[in-house]
Amino acid sequence: MKVIIIGGGIIGLSSALYLQQAGCSVTVVDRSDMLQGCSYGNAGYICPSHFVPLATPGIVRQGLKWMLNAKSPFYIKPSLNKDLVNWGLKFMKSATRTHVERSAVPLRDISLLSKQLYEEWTSTPGIDFSYEPIGMMELFKTDEHAHHAIETVEKATALGIEAKILGKEELSQMEPGVTIEAAGAVYFPGDSQLYPNQLMHNLRGYLERSGVQFIRHREVTDFVTAGNSIKAVKASGEVIDADHVVLAAGVWSASLAQRFGLNIPMVGGRGYSITFEDAPYKLRHSIILSEARVAISPMNGNKVRFGGTMEITPLNTPPRMQRVQGIVESVKQYFPSYDIPVPPAEKVWYGYRPCSADGLPYIGNLSHYTNVTIATGHSMLGISLGAATGKLVSELVTGLPTSMDLRPFNPERFC
Ligand SMILES: Cc1cc2nc3c(=O)[nH]c(=O)nc-3n(C[C@H](O)[C@H](O)[C@H](O)COP(=O)(O)OP(=O)(O)OC[C@H]3O[C@@H](n4cnc5c(N)ncnc54)[C@H](O)[C@@H]3O)c2cc1C
Repeated sequence: MKVIIIGGGIIGLSSALYLQQAGCSVTVVDRSDMLQGCSYGNAGYICPSHFVPLATPGIVRQGLKWMLNAKSPFYIKPSLNKDLVNWGLKFMKSATRTHVERSAVPLRDISLLSKQLYEEWTSTPGIDFSYEPIGMMELFKTDEHAHHAIETVEKATALGIEAKILGKEELSQMEPGVTIEAAGAVYFPGDSQLYPNQLMHNLRGYLERSGVQFIRHREVTDFVTAGNSIKAVKASGEVIDADHVVLAAGVWSASLAQRFGLNIPMVGGRGYSITFEDAPYKLRHSIILSEARVAISPMNGNKVRFGGTMEITPLNTPPRMQRVQGIVESVKQYFPSYDIPVPPAEKVWYGYRPCSADGLPYIGNLSHYTNVTIATGHSMLGISLGAATGKLVSELVTGLPTSMDLRPFNPERFC
């Protein structure tokens, strides 16, 4: 079976890996050189701790407050764009306690499956990606966040995910090399860290050596259909035949899906990161600054990456350096000795998270086409859920029973 995968981010590459192993002839088509998309400069967390979707009660009110501050972690550019309005209404409708409770088990299950698969990848020669099971700490300063941390530990424990509260003293024992200004932390020993740039580079190389075809710098713009199946994709003037199509084009999947009549509400949530090599910022754990929503990732032995912000903004808007300034200033509030320089704009990475309207990914086959699989909308969790998504995609394409119940991720749930 000839499978065309549209998009060579982590979701496309992981799907290619498992489809190739299942005996399919696999071609990945990407409109870029596949070197710097959203799957590269992210924080690299493999985080079963993240069993709460983006759409939560209170996020809209908090988001509106943040919008007034140019350095805050969240921003939506006000617009009457119909896709944004459609997404916003569905997002607000999803941001309920019931939705959060319903999403916890499926998010836990796909996260744990993914973590297990990444651990298997570590023993595949040629796919080294600096996977480190170092655990993650979410630091908090305020009473409100301390209260939230206690609730999180209770929920995590009920789900079978190890988590505990650390006081100030225990926190400094966990990170003895630096002074931390925080009241405490939630510690998730089961989370892991990887170096996404290395993962993407090595996975692509491994796939090429295994016979996966890559067609770079070709933008898929349309499809050739016959009855209820897709016969080919049209990419920059070329027509590429397909027995099956996997749509894994990140945030750009939504407009392509409209070509075959599927509405998957999605917006780009832009985030920024800055990475330092051999810098004096040495940490033993992955760290989240709860109030500031900033991620700090020690990577690959000698690197540290600071990342954050969620800007819902048109995809061609120039980067806003004030957001990066906001990240740097937040870090200093928790780590007073970290005098992080704001690098010039060309050294700042940014990428667009494919944000679904309820914070859950879209993974599944379509009911009105026999040979299309959707794999996108992973929002803040595309790396964490990447390996599992690839495996699930290969099961969907080859007609095997899936490793977990995929109904919560049905791509047609908003149709
Ligand atoms: C600051 C930041 C930190 C993050 N930290 C984490 C983290 O710690 N853990 C985690 O799990 N996730 C994290 N994320 C989210 C994660 O990076 C994304 O969810 C993930 O990379 C999405 O992968 P993807 O393959 O769906 O999309 P992408 O990586 O965006 O790949 C999509 C690909 O499709 C191609 N494409 C698009 N349109 C077309 C077309 N028409 N034709 C051909 N090709 C096309 C693009 O060129 C691109 O290569 C973070 C994101 C940001 C911004």
